[in-house]
Amino acid sequence: MNVAPLILLLGSNQGESQVLLKNARALLEEALGEIKIVSSIYRTKAWGKTNQPDFLNQVVVIPYTGHAVSALDLVLEIEHKLGRTRTVKWGERTMDIDILYYGNQICQTARLTLPHPALHIRRFALVPLCEILPDFIHPVFNKTQVQLLDECPDHLEVIKLL
Ligand code: ADP
Ligand code: MG
Repeated sequence: MNVAPLILLLGSNQGESQVLLKNARALLEEALGEIKIVSSIYRTKAWGKTNQPDFLNQVVVIPYTGHAVSALDLVLEIEHKLGRTRTVKWGERTMDIDILYYGNQICQTARLTLPHPALHIRRFALVPLCEILPDFIHPVFNKTQVQLLDECPDHLEVIKLL
């Protein structure tokens, strides 16, 4: 059985975001396994579609043995349970759960791209990653999270909450 870290980014900018993050962590532990590492919660400006409330973001790490696509199905189900409806691209959402990395797996299918294709241009993903896994190597760019943050073109504010 191959165990690899499943590294997830949680984001919410609609509803009681702090409570939604807590509920998402509980549902993730039920569905996927114990969360071994958790970042602080960060308040970040909306990226892409900017005329919407700030987001709360957090990265969690779960040692996982299943297929990447099974993990995707499970996180999408949790988004749905937490009230996520898909309307506008990059619009407001109660809960978004993105798979940033699954160990050093590289995958590009219609449903799933690993590592997440935009993580290196999103400061709100890299700042929490640098807090908890600064030396983790991006398997495509062969760079650490610290190097990626250093080179990140996105300068939207990311503020540590707690
Ligand atoms: P976004 O997170 O970009 O705002 P969505 O959360 O609506 O968009 O996700 C749209 C689709 O992105 C998902 O249904 C999923 O199939 C696909 N996807 C591809 N790669 C990933 C990944 N690494 N993590 C999460 N979803 C992904
Ligand atoms: Mg998503």
